[in-house]
Amino acid sequence: MDIPSESDRALRDEIVERARTAGLRLVRFLYCDNDGLIRGKATGMSSLARRLETGIGLTVAMQAFSLLDQLAPVEGMGPVGEIRLVPDLKTFVVAPYSVVTGVVLVDMTTLEGAPYPADGRGFLRRMVGRARDADMEIVAAFEPEWSLARSEAGSYVPLDESNCFSTSGMVAAAGVIDELVAALEAQGMAVEQYYPELGWGQQELSIGRAPALRAADNHLLYRETVRDVAARHGLVASFAPKPWPDQAGNGCHLHWSGWNRDLTVNRFHEAGGPYGLSEAARQFIAGVLDHLPALVALTCASVNSYRRLQPQTWASAYRTWGFDNREAALRVPSPLRGLEAESTNVELKASDSSANPYLALGGVIAAGLDGIERGLDLPRPVAVDPASLSEKEREELGAVRLPTSLGEAIDNLERDAVLLDALGDRLAASYLAVKRSNIAAFAAHDEAFEFAQHFSKF
Ligand code: GLU
Ligand code: MG
Repeated sequence: MDIPSESDRALRDEIVERARTAGLRLVRFLYCDNDGLIRGKATGMSSLARRLETGIGLTVAMQAFSLLDQLAPVEGMGPVGEIRLVPDLKTFVVAPYSVVTGVVLVDMTTLEGAPYPADGRGFLRRMVGRARDADMEIVAAFEPEWSLARSEAGSYVPLDESNCFSTSGMVAAAGVIDELVAALEAQGMAVEQYYPELGWGQQELSIGRAPALRAADNHLLYRETVRDVAARHGLVASFAPKPWPDQAGNGCHLHWSGWNRDLTVNRFHEAGGPYGLSEAARQFIAGVLDHLPALVALTCASVNSYRRLQPQTWASAYRTWGFDNREAALRVPSPLRGLEAESTNVELKASDSSANPYLALGGVIAAGLDGIERGLDLPRPVAVDPASLSEKEREELGAVRLPTSLGEAIDNLERDAVLLDALGDRLAASYLAVKRSNIAAFAAHDEAFEFAQHFSKF
C-alpha cells in the first residue's frame, strides 16, 4: 500500500467536509465479494475522519462467503483473523439517491497494510499493471442490461410487456430512468445511451468508458444506484443473468480497447488492418478466445448465468468472434465513421452482472496479454449465426460450445494455468470454493429457488 501522503490527508479532509455539508449520516465502505455481491459496512460521522485513514475491520471469512451466506471451506478463511477495508479516497461519492448516505469503494488489506491476496480489486490493479508493462492502458465499459419488476404476492412481475426499443417501454420506466440518469451524472458517470430492451421490463442504459479500474468501480456504483433508485419507486431492479425463464437474459457486455499511456493513441486500431484491428488487438482477442471456456467462470459467474448463454438468444453460446456479429462471443463492433481510431473496441457478450467486475475484467486482461505474449493468431471470423453452421464447420473454426453450466466452467478454470497464476493462490482457492459451494447448494434445490436467490442479489 502507498504510504499516506500530504495529498491523502488533504483528500480526507475534503471528504469529511463534503460529507458534513451534504448532511450525511453514514458513509458506506463497499466492496464486491467473490460471489459478485456488493457488501460493506458503514461508518458514522464521528469516526469518518479516522476510518478514512485506518479502514474498517472485516473477518477473513467474507471472501469465502457465497451468495447464500454459506461459508465455503477454505483454509485460513474461518472465524479467526481480520483484514481491513481501506477506502480508495478517489472513489468517494455523496450517493445522490439517498439524502443521508455517502459511498466509498475499498481495497482489502492485511492488518499490516499490505494488499490482501484474496481481494478482487487488488487483482484488477495487478492486471492493469501487467498491461502497462506491455505498454497498454486498458480502457473499458460495462454495458449492463437489467429488469424492472414489482414484487407481488411473493413473486416478481415484469414492470411492463413493452417491445424492444419501444417508446411505450420508455414511458413505462420514465420516472425511474430520469432519476437514475440524474443520479449517475451527479456521480460523474456520463450516460451514453438508454433504451428498453427485448425482455419484458428490461432496460439498457450505458455509461461512458474509463480506465479499467475506474470502469469496474463505476459498474459497482451503477448497480448500487439502479437498485436504490428502483427501490424508491417501489420496484425491484434485477441484474440476474436470467431473471425469468421465458424472457431475454440480462447481459453485461464488456467493451474494451488498449491505449498508450496518456490515452491519446488507441493501440487496438490500425487503419488498413483487418477490420481496422492492429496486430496487438488481434493477438489480444485471440488470447481471450483461447481462454474463453475457462474465462467464463469469471465473467458468467453464477449458476443462473448458464441459462442465459444459449444459442440464438444474442447472448453467445459458442467460442467465436465476428465483425458486427451479435451471436459471436466476441464481437468487433463497426467503428464510427470519422472516429475509427477512437471507437475501435472489442465486446465480450459472454459476460453478465453476476460477475465480480474486477475479476471479470482482470481475467480478460490476463487472457488477452497471454495472447500477445504467445503471438496467437485469430481464427477466421464468423459472419453468420454460429448455431446455423454444421458441427463440422464449427469444429474447423474452433467454435466449441461454451460451458453449459457453472460446474463445467469452474472445471475449466481449475485447469487454466494462466488464469490461475494471474489470480494467485488465495484468490483462486477462495473463488473456486465459493463457486463449488453454490453449485452443490443449487443442485440440491429446484429451479424456483435458483431464480428467487439470484433475482435481486446483484
Ligand atoms: N439480452 C442479450 C444478452 O443476453 C443481448 C441483446 C443485445 O443487446 O444484443 O446478452
Ligand atoms: Mg442490449
